[in-house]
Amino acid sequence: MHVMQIIPTGKNHKEIIKKKEKQLFFTICINQMESDWSGRWNHVRKFVERGGPFAHPDFEPSTEAIGFLQDVCKILVIGAGGLGCELLKDLALMGFRNLDVIDMDTIDVSNLNRQFLFRHKDVGKPKAEVAAEFINKRVPGCKVTPHYCQIQDYDESFYRKFHIVVCGLDSIVARRWINGMLISLLKYEDGELDQSTLIPMVDGGTEGFKGNARVILTGITACIECTLDLYPPQINFPLCTIAHTPRLPEHCIEYVRILLWPKEEPFGADVTIDGDEPDHINWIMDKSIERANEFKISGITYRLTQGVVKRIIPAVASTNAVIAAACSTEVFKLATSCCLPLNNYMNFSDIDGIYTYAFEAMKKEDCIACTNIPKALKFSDGDKLQDILTYLIDSAEYQMKSPGITTSLNGKNKTLYMQTVKSIEEKTRENLKKTLNELGLRDGQEVYIADPTTPNTITFKLTLGCNME
Ligand SMILES: [Zn+2]
Repeated sequence: MHVMQIIPTGKNHKEIIKKKEKQLFFTICINQMESDWSGRWNHVRKFVERGGPFAHPDFEPSTEAIGFLQDVCKILVIGAGGLGCELLKDLALMGFRNLDVIDMDTIDVSNLNRQFLFRHKDVGKPKAEVAAEFINKRVPGCKVTPHYCQIQDYDESFYRKFHIVVCGLDSIVARRWINGMLISLLKYEDGELDQSTLIPMVDGGTEGFKGNARVILTGITACIECTLDLYPPQINFPLCTIAHTPRLPEHCIEYVRILLWPKEEPFGADVTIDGDEPDHINWIMDKSIERANEFKISGITYRLTQGVVKRIIPAVASTNAVIAAACSTEVFKLATSCCLPLNNYMNFSDIDGIYTYAFEAMKKEDCIACTNIPKALKFSDGDKLQDILTYLIDSAEYQMKSPGITTSLNGKNKTLYMQTVKSIEEKTRENLKKTLNELGLRDGQEVYIADPTTPNTITFKLTLGCNME
């Protein structure tokens, strides 16, 4: 409490001082009772009340900065899992008081080793609600508002309320969606970005002993889609290796999962593998060991078998802690300008010692999310609609999930294919077999693609060459 600054000095003011001291004493008492105690935020004040060589050029040290942090700044935390628990704890202890957290999951017993805001009694309850309640109880004055739902359940009026969005997600689709949402909030005037519409996104990700943290200033620096090729598609072992030349215990487990299970039908026809069913995992494990012995491979355990079947990448609590700390620090830097933010991508690995470095991910000139340039789709008029669909799903650049395609023909909107609504899917399925020519699509035609990876419709321009066949 900065008592001395508020009290006027000078001999003539002695009486006033006494009165004021009394008043202040009560105010401080009330504040303390509410949430603050003397010296509580000294660690934060050191950063915002002094200048320094690393500060943002616009930074002005002030005693009011902490007021912005505590009373004004609204932060949205997406995800209340391994990273989310850490993020909420870090941000609350840094003095952020207006936090919202959104998560669609409920607590599983296997979360408890690292998601430290949850206890055994919480199993089955929504993560967002339990996490919010824990922080609100534990950190006086902090108000976390939970949202037990999907990010897609809210529209732009919800996301617009926040100053900074920080993500602790394990889903790339969700990351891409929120990236698209924040980009859709940007407003431009005469081609110039109105910076007041920019909501920075701080994104953390971990996988086992590896992690990354990044700062995205939407419209200015590289966005998630600009760097989509950093997320490789899920690795599957080549089938020939699994079938003929296994070298790893995982190859043997995959052999049983992919080839033996459908052939031997150990639990009857049409019974698919349930990774949580011990009988299934035991059967797969025993068969895998048989095969591993043939090839003199060791190391197959129940845990590994289940891990391979369920595609589990073990979560490492310390990696989450490091990445969440880096992300929270970036949020603090963005909120206060006391230090320049990360530019813009930090990689971390503690597989073998500790290794980290930062680099500047470059904005892609023709990114489908953060530029308004319609992308070219090069096909021949003899290609089928299915070819476009397959391309959008398979290409490393787009990695779409279930694209829907519409266009405008003779001034009328026409749905060419849509997967998400069953009745429309049935009606438009025939179109997949038709050639682009048969569908009336011409060179230069614009098609509009909707996909779960983005809240926005993406415009493509068809470039049709002649069919050489
Ligand atoms: Zn981009």
